[in-house]
Amino acid sequence: MKTATLLPQTLAIGIFLLLADAPPASAQGVAPTRPAAATNTTATTPAPATAPKSSKPATAAKFIKSNSIDLVTYAKNLGFTATWTKTPDTTQLTLKKPGMKLDFTSEHIDFYANGQRIFAGAPIHAYQNSLWISRIDADNLLTPIAAPAAIKSPIPALRVIAIDAGHGGKDKGTTNPRLKVDEKTFTLDTANRLKTLLEQKGYKVILTRLQDKQVDLGDRPDIAAKFKADLLVSIHYNAIENYSEAQTVTGVEVIRFTPRNQPPLFKRANPGNEDRLPNPADANGNWSALAAFQVHRALLSNLKVSDRGLKHDKLAVLRLATMPAILVEPGFLTNDAEAKKIATAAYRQEIAKAIAAGIQAYADTLALLRGQQQHSRQ
Ligand SMILES: [Zn+2]
Repeated sequence: MKTATLLPQTLAIGIFLLLADAPPASAQGVAPTRPAAATNTTATTPAPATAPKSSKPATAAKFIKSNSIDLVTYAKNLGFTATWTKTPDTTQLTLKKPGMKLDFTSEHIDFYANGQRIFAGAPIHAYQNSLWISRIDADNLLTPIAAPAAIKSPIPALRVIAIDAGHGGKDKGTTNPRLKVDEKTFTLDTANRLKTLLEQKGYKVILTRLQDKQVDLGDRPDIAAKFKADLLVSIHYNAIENYSEAQTVTGVEVIRFTPRNQPPLFKRANPGNEDRLPNPADANGNWSALAAFQVHRALLSNLKVSDRGLKHDKLAVLRLATMPAILVEPGFLTNDAEAKKIATAAYRQEIAKAIAAGIQAYADTLALLRGQQQHSRQ
């Protein structure tokens, strides 16, 4: 699939940056000044250059209070300890408990969980001596990753897994003209490798396509539903739209469906009317985030490639899924060096092993949660 390369300069601009007129006071001995604008992190980090001057700071404060939660209070309730760091331009918050370290930076839309880059649906804001995360991100992203025992919806089963090999038939997906390879061929091969590995672990596995044929995007989740799949994993290989960057961009991305009332990452700054409509994927957003996090982690640790992040988008194959669903992009076919690796059966086997390990980690977490639930009922 295509990946947008434009920096999301506009993401954090809008009502959120009205906050720049309401600087927080000291946070646990640290005295953050204006939450800010430019940052010293990587080039792909959303970094609004200047906050528009606002005539309505009170509106922004009200917006934050009603739509966000204070990360420190959230974290204390879940057993985390908080540490603050101040840089000239940002306020940083680290939350720790055994097995989980979360790093947040004011006015950034991304944060880090055990070093993994995670993209939220709205930026984290500095306000009233703390950092605030949107309620939607807390419920649909942070809790599943950092405290899955606090997920309120019923714990899903995991016996049947649907694997979706991206593209097929006339739809070749991304092609690398120099290597003369197609995405559709590698997605099907990787899907078959993953199927074998998961069957060895005892799962029932179905594929949304068995051959080189075209399957409509909307039909793919329908096939998964027909076979009563408990998880849908769509496999793609990535492409960069701006070809001048093709030889520098490599690495892993995992994508979940953008929750209701949030805009898709990098497309729009604020939710539009279409974002307010309900979608089948909404029902399993939290479990999809947990599955995406585990598969993202396994891909990074097994393949030792760069981390392009756990992202979100309103993709049709995810939108219509009635079970937890994720889309994996294990590497870039537009990058010649990475495409050469992907073109080898040995590397595709490593990718399949990593995805299988991530699915197993998701299964293990579900089993642990089921055990805790039974224990608490006794
Ligand atoms: Zn694709």
